Amino acid sequence: MRYFDAHDHLQNYASPEEEAAAVAAARAAGVEGMLCCGTSPDDWGRVLEIAERYEDVAPAFGLHPWFTAEEGWLGRLGEFLRRVPRACVGEIGLDGARETPGQEENFRAQLELGARLGRPAVIHCVRKWGRLLELLGRAGLPAFMLHAYGGPAEMVKAFAGLGGYFSFNGELLDPRRERLRAALAAVPPERLLLETESPEPDAPGWRSGPAGMAEVAAAAAGALGRPAEELAALTLANARKFTGEAR
Ligand SMILES: [Zn+2]
Repeated sequence: MRYFDAHDHLQNYASPEEEAAAVAAARAAGVEGMLCCGTSPDDWGRVLEIAERYEDVAPAFGLHPWFTAEEGWLGRLGEFLRRVPRACVGEIGLDGARETPGQEENFRAQLELGARLGRPAVIHCVRKWGRLLELLGRAGLPAFMLHAYGGPAEMVKAFAGLGGYFSFNGELLDPRRERLRAALAAVPPERLLLETESPEPDAPGWRSGPAGMAEVAAAAAGALGRPAEELAALTLANARKFTGEAR
């Protein structure tokens, strides 16, 4: 089976050796592509290096809602995005559980930049689903992905109508996450993505690193009652389409 890890942070491995081992294990497990997401000006350089080192890693650059940055960061972000025409803007977003100064303003500025450069966006959202929908409705992005989608199943249609993709991870394996599986079931097949968010801590039964895509695909397959082969192929094709949407 072949997979695409639609959201990870390879730059967060403790050393280049650990990062290389994670990429090698992922390739051996059938992972054909990964989207490595920056989170602040401090890691954009590392993300760029990683994307240059591994041809199967696509980069995204953005200021994560948990972080703030020194003046001038938006100009630097524009430079990174212009330097890599296939790069997405992200990880950006809104987090109602972890407020930071200027969070919404920073998010809006990055949506504008993404729209101006014609880049798909990788979005993090906690609790602020209504506001997110409003902002995305006027953003004019070519496409966006709601990574680790945690919103209600009822909002899937509205986000999909704006060009949204929905990404899920190994939390699908958690027996208590019934609402998450309901949201998964509501996603149009052509907008479904799967991710590991490596190197985040392991969940039970979930292999560490992007190689864990096999377990994530099996979990999604179990929740949807579809063959894992079919979901792996579908989400790989969707991820190729999403990352190819930079104009
Ligand atoms: Zn992330």
